[in-house]
Amino acid sequence: MSFEELGVKDEIVDNLAERGITHPTPVQQQSIPPGLKGKDLLVESETGSGKTIAFGIPIVQRLTHEEGKVRALIICPTRELAKQVAGEFDKFNAGLRVLTVYGGVSYEPQKEALPKTDIVVGTPGRILDLMEQGALVLDHVDFLVLDEADRMLDMGFIDDIERIMAATPASRQTLLFSATISYRIQHLSEKYMREPLLIRIESQEVRGHLFQGYYVCNPWQKIGLLAKLLKRQDRALVFCRTIVATDHVAAELRKRGIKAKSVNGNMGQATRERTVKDFQDKKFNVLVATDVAARGLHIDGITHVYNYDLPDEPETYVHRVGRTARQGADGEAITLLCEDDYRKFDPIMDLYDDEIEKLTYHAWGQIERIPPSPPRPRAQRGGPRRRGGPRRLGARRRR
Ligand code: AMP
Repeated sequence: MSFEELGVKDEIVDNLAERGITHPTPVQQQSIPPGLKGKDLLVESETGSGKTIAFGIPIVQRLTHEEGKVRALIICPTRELAKQVAGEFDKFNAGLRVLTVYGGVSYEPQKEALPKTDIVVGTPGRILDLMEQGALVLDHVDFLVLDEADRMLDMGFIDDIERIMAATPASRQTLLFSATISYRIQHLSEKYMREPLLIRIESQEVRGHLFQGYYVCNPWQKIGLLAKLLKRQDRALVFCRTIVATDHVAAELRKRGIKAKSVNGNMGQATRERTVKDFQDKKFNVLVATDVAARGLHIDGITHVYNYDLPDEPETYVHRVGRTARQGADGEAITLLCEDDYRKFDPIMDLYDDEIEKLTYHAWGQIERIPPSPPRPRAQRGGPRRRGGPRRLGARRRR
């Protein structure tokens, strides 16, 4: 399959070829033809899948320059991603003016450049600020992209995004890209998109074997048990539900001689990224995080994921454990379960067809694994399961 066959015009095909891009990735194969026809797209795909070119081509090929009018708006969760996306657009060399807007820097250069801009790539807060100051007018936007939409919702940008979307013409084409199409994303698309085409790209990544287990303990035993487990391992990510809990758990682990640090929403983006960089550089080996903080960051080489607290949503559990067993390496995901947690744990067990093993430990002795109980016959469980992963959440809900 070639880019020409997808309907991409010659100048763009040549430009891509010069950059060594000759074969469209799966997300490009599926998104570019309907994107060029003006369809709204709801695309589930991961970073690294080639999604920027997947939404870039329909825009670059069809956008008509009009002096003084912003014709395309791309909303990204972070300044880093905004810069990266703008860089990809610049590489098309299509004579379109691209401007990146994000907070933490002065308004003036952005305001001065806006009247000459065709494509704005930015973070929600600064886009809104510029709109409110009358510097950014969205009345002529033909293309609206939400990039890494799930990350933006996790970061609490939903109100900002809705206000921005509402300020663009209803006739625009909307392209929403997200690593997962959660209930909240579906809700957003129903409200703001016109019969979007749903495109799902299965992860191309080779996953290693993921072992999943759980210990049942009392709330007051959790920290001691976690410390004991962590002493045996190297690169662990510990999930807590609250910001306060991440700081508490990290401090308690340090008292027990474990090199642990927390990462949470109380820290600015720069501090969070520095902490993660130190973790990547092996300056410490246990990162204690909230879901929101972790989902805004790319963290590699995790050998163990611990659920110190269970998440409210089974979906979140899936995200957490997906942080390990990546790029062919094996991984373990261990949950510390208290009596009150069973209500939340049952749907998770259900999702993995009961293949999360119960583990046991002795107060001062060795930690043992109880051999798994024989699996229930498949007929009792309902529905097929993707190997090595959870059943699709939608499938579970329909039962
Ligand atoms: P993205 O998922 O948009 O962040 O893209 C990840 C990287 O893959 C970027 O550096 C792109 O330039 C590159 N890329 C995108 N599409 C292709 C392709 N079809 N062939 C080779 N490289 C690509």
